Order: sequence, then structure tokens, then C-alpha cells
Amino acid sequence: MTAVPEPSSELAWLCRALKAPSLAAGIDRLASRAREQGWTHEQFLAACLEREVLARQSHGGEARIKAARFPARKTLEDFDFDHQRSVRRDVIAHLGQLDFIEARDNVVFLGPPGTGKTHLSIALGIRACLAGHRVAFATAAQWVDRLGAAHQAGRLQDELRRLGRTPLVVIDEVGYIPFDADAANLFFQLISSRYERASVIMSSNKPFSRWGEVFGDPVVAAAMIDRLVHHAEVISLKGDSYRLKDRDLGRIPSDDNPT
Ligand code: ADP
Ligand code: MG
Repeated sequence: MTAVPEPSSELAWLCRALKAPSLAAGIDRLASRAREQGWTHEQFLAACLEREVLARQSHGGEARIKAARFPARKTLEDFDFDHQRSVRRDVIAHLGQLDFIEARDNVVFLGPPGTGKTHLSIALGIRACLAGHRVAFATAAQWVDRLGAAHQAGRLQDELRRLGRTPLVVIDEVGYIPFDADAANLFFQLISSRYERASVIMSSNKPFSRWGEVFGDPVVAAAMIDRLVHHAEVISLKGDSYRLKDRDLGRIPSDDNPT
């Protein structure tokens, strides 16, 4: 009698050959569930393949999260909406479905320091990575440095084209550092190269009315805001800094809070 290989060792070998370790690990349990629940052959095959596909997607997600260079790891689940009353939970939950990326729309977070702009930007970015989209995160100043270097090397257009293939670019901290004319121009090119082609999440501590100061030129600022918000969810965050929430510093003095 010829030796018929044990099904499990043959399957183990096949899974190795396919480089499908998650399938290998799950096959026994899936097979017993299939027997208990009377799955069809097709249902069983689909369950096996799905296991491997989901594992690969989540591995890919980790790789995309690393490549995106987020400054920290934040999730929508750990955002405290009871603390941040000025943003609607359902609006953020809807953004978390990521339709805006498919639609090539933008998201703009405006508000004072510590109100959660970076947190929400990262959380949406991580969602996007896990859903299979490539993401690139940097502050406005870092983007300008990167584009400036590409410009110096005579490959600005290549760089913008390359970035155009990244479905989501996050631009954090617009407004902390004012731009000179060259920087403002590079920045404008970044925004206009993505207009209606790929999404941007941008956050700023300055209202649009003050972007003229940030970009040193009200005309450039207006043209940029126009492209940015034409298809965008603009979210204004208000309130005290979350960073200071448990510190007994009293309220930070402001005009409506005379002490
Ligand atoms: P911003 O970018 O608006 O200056 P951040 O998003 O960096 O503020 O928030 C500052 C810190 O406070 C971060 O560690 C962030 O995770 C946390 N934080 C801010 N708002 C909330 C919130 N509503 N729920 C939970 N954590 C928050
Ligand atoms: Mg921030």
C-alpha cells in the first residue's frame, strides 16, 4: 500500500509553499466548525481564504502605519467626546468610515492647542492605513522642507506626482511657523496638486481669516483655502487644552475670564 500523506501534514506543506501561515494555524479549527455546522465546500474554502486575507491586510496595515510616520499612536476609540463637546461624534464616526478618501475630499481641523486636532488626524490616518490606503504624515514645516529639497534637486514635479499616488496626506500644525514666499509657494503647489485628485487632512491653530499672515500673502492664502475647502469637512474645535486638563493651573487667562 502506498503511503498516503496525512491530510494535516500535506496541508501544512501546502500552506508553507503558499506562504500562508495564518491559514495553516486556522485550518483545523475551521474544519471542525465546518463539520459541526455543515458548511458547503465553498463556504469552507471561503472561510479559509478569508482568514489568510484578513491576516495579510492587518500585517499590511502595520507596515503602512510605520511608513506613514505618525508622531504617536491615537485612535478614535480613545478620543473622549465628553471632554471635547465642540466636535460631533457622528461626524467623526462618519469620517472614520473613510468615504472621504474614496471621494478625494479633504478634512480640516481648526482650533487652539490641545483640543485634539493631531489626535483626530492620526486616528483617521491609522484607520486609513488599516483599510488599505497609503498615508503620509508630517507637519507643515516638514512638508515644506521635503518639497524644498525636491525643488533644489530639480525634481519637485516628480515628488508631487509621487505624492499624488498616496491617497491621504496629513499636514499638521499649519500656522505655528509663518512661511516665507518660497515656502508658501511650495505649499500652494502641494495643495493644488492634490485638488480633486487625492485627500488631505490639515490642521491649524489659526482661523482661515489669519492664513494671510501665515502665508505672508492674502491672495495665495485665499487661493489655497478655496481649493482646500471646496470639497471638505471643516471641523472647528473649541475649549481648553486637554494637555492641561488634570493640572491644577486654574484657567488660562483670557479676555472673557478676568481674574
Ligand atoms: P492639538 O493637535 O489640537 O494641539 P492634540 O491632538 O495633540 O492637540 O492633543 C493633545 C493631547 O491630548 C494628545 O495626547 C491627545 O491624545 C490628547 N487629547 C486631546 N483631546 C482629547 C480628547 N478629547 N480625548 C482624549 N485625548 C485627547
Ligand atoms: Mg497638534
